[in-house]
Amino acid sequence: MDLDLHLHSSASDGSLDPEAVVEAALQARLDVISLTDHDTVAGVPAALSAAHGENITVIPGIEISTSLDDVELHILGYFVDPTNAALLAHTGKASARREDRLREMVVRLADAGVEVPIELVWEFVGRGASPGRPHLARALVQIGAVDTVPEAFDRFIGNDHPAYVPTRLLDPEGACHLIREAGGVSVWAHPQDRQLEPLLPGLVEVGLDGVEVFRPWLSRDRMGRIEAAARRHGLIVTGGSDWHGPEGGPLGEFRVHAGPVAEFLAIGGM
Ligand code: AMP
Ligand code: ZN
Ligand code: FE
Ligand code: FE
Repeated sequence: MDLDLHLHSSASDGSLDPEAVVEAALQARLDVISLTDHDTVAGVPAALSAAHGENITVIPGIEISTSLDDVELHILGYFVDPTNAALLAHTGKASARREDRLREMVVRLADAGVEVPIELVWEFVGRGASPGRPHLARALVQIGAVDTVPEAFDRFIGNDHPAYVPTRLLDPEGACHLIREAGGVSVWAHPQDRQLEPLLPGLVEVGLDGVEVFRPWLSRDRMGRIEAAARRHGLIVTGGSDWHGPEGGPLGEFRVHAGPVAEFLAIGGM
C-alpha cells in the first residue's frame, strides 16, 4: 500500500483543483492520500466526492500555520471533521488574516521599490482560495519583478526576508487543541533538524500527536534521526510529498509505504 499524506490543491496554493488532485493520485496508483491545504478544509468535500467509489482513500486534512515566538511551524491535522464549527471558525479567521497579511506584504514590497498591483495578487489567489505567498510570488513573476517563484522567495518573501509577514493567528498549542476538538490528530510538518530536539518536548506537552518523517529529498539517515526522536517522545510518524501540482514533478514519484506509518493508519481504522 502506497500513501502520500501531504498534498495541496487550489483550495490553497496548489495548482490543481481537489478533484484533479484525486485523479492524479489514482493515475499514480496511490492507495491513501490526504489533502492538507493551508488553513482551509474547503477542498476536502470535493476530494472526498471524487474518491467515492474509486480505489483510493482520502483522509480529510489541513495544514495550520503557527507561530512559536518568531519561529513559523506548520501543524498538520488529520482525520478532522471538515464541518466542525471550531475548525471552520479558524479557517474563516485565517482567510481574512491571510488577505490582510498579503496586503501588508505588498506594502513592504513597495517600500523595497517593487510595485505589485493588489488586484493582480487577488487574480492569482482565485475565488475562495486560502491566500498564500505563492500567489503573491506568481504575481511578482507576472510583472517581471522576478523570473521564478523560488526567486521571489529568495529575494523578497521567504521567511526572514524584508517583505515577509507571518500569519500569526495561532501558536502550536492552539493548533493542536483545535485539531483535537475537530476530532483529528496533530502532526508537526517538515521539522528542521535544529528545531527538532529543542522544540519537541514543549510540543508534546501541548498535545502534539506525531511528526512528519518521510519526505522527498531527505536522506535515510536524517529520516532515521527524526523518526527516532519522534518515537522517543511516544509520537506517531507520517510522511508526504508536500506536492503543490505537476509543475513541481509528478505526483507519486515520492511514496510513503504503509508499514512505517501503521500506527497512523490504525487511528483511521485502516
Ligand atoms: P504561506 O502559507 O503563505 O506562508 O506560504 C507557504 C508556502 O509557500 C509553502 O507551502 C510553499 O508552497 C511556499 N514556499 C515557502 N518557501 C518557499 C521557497 N523558498 N520557494 C518556493 N516556495 C516556497
Ligand atoms: Zn504551500
Ligand atoms: Fe508547510
Ligand atoms: Fe504543505
